[in-house]
Amino acid sequence: MKTINAINGINGIALHYARLPQHPYGTIGRPQDFKVEEGFFEILKTAFDEVFTNCPLGKPNVITCAGILVNKPGHHGLGKAFDLDAIFWDDHTLITNNFIHQKELYLGIESYLRKHFGIVLNYLYPNHADHWHFDTSVNVDYNESSKSETLYLQMVLKYIYGKSIIVDGISGPQTRAATREVFDRLGVSSPITTKVNYLKFLDITGKIAFKLSEEKVSPLQLLENLETVVENLPTENKHGVSQALNSFVMHHDTSTWLNGLDDDHDLESIINDVIT
Ligand SMILES: [Zn+2]
Repeated sequence: MKTINAINGINGIALHYARLPQHPYGTIGRPQDFKVEEGFFEILKTAFDEVFTNCPLGKPNVITCAGILVNKPGHHGLGKAFDLDAIFWDDHTLITNNFIHQKELYLGIESYLRKHFGIVLNYLYPNHADHWHFDTSVNVDYNESSKSETLYLQMVLKYIYGKSIIVDGISGPQTRAATREVFDRLGVSSPITTKVNYLKFLDITGKIAFKLSEEKVSPLQLLENLETVVENLPTENKHGVSQALNSFVMHHDTSTWLNGLDDDHDLESIINDVIT
């Protein structure tokens, strides 16, 4: 076991802690020492190095971590699991709980994390909306029966590749068909369950997601985000808010304006850029 307060040495990414009672979640928190198992620390360094070499925002200053060695069963008990709350650059912040508004950046980072950690639990996995959990307790590969892996796959099919599919963590004919289509478009061999194909898919998807994250956000995407937020409201609040939103969207002047907008999301040319 080793004690660390940064990833990648002295000029590296500082590790902070931001959870109540002292420091609210989502803030930059304060520097904190963490105990970590040596082999797992090496994997963390390699993974973060790859994530931030590819990320258009570059190396961040601070990562807030909710725990590495934690007194509980499983890989946290061995110092071989990491809970990542948020990432802070000079002018940007990714707070994991903010997934809906930063889908492309979030999924770009997760695609690279998945190349190194067999277990990654994300925003839609129960109890993980406010942090990524990752560990190496299983091998890196794709299993159809894995809920967390299927959630990731469906999230990128929908939010990166624009396929209209249901994101429920259960693989079925719809998910398989969309996967096959995207693999063909990217020039990646099927099936996804072969490790080398899966790794190639993760790598290309990470690059595409990062490029999309740099594009200007269109009002139509912002409206879509708002609709997602409303869909996720507790039932007792949902009805009134969604009625108000619908009357706004259906109003003659609003709909004229919305119909005149281009969704200038240039996915096809970004895909071509990345795969050639
Ligand atoms: Zn965890």
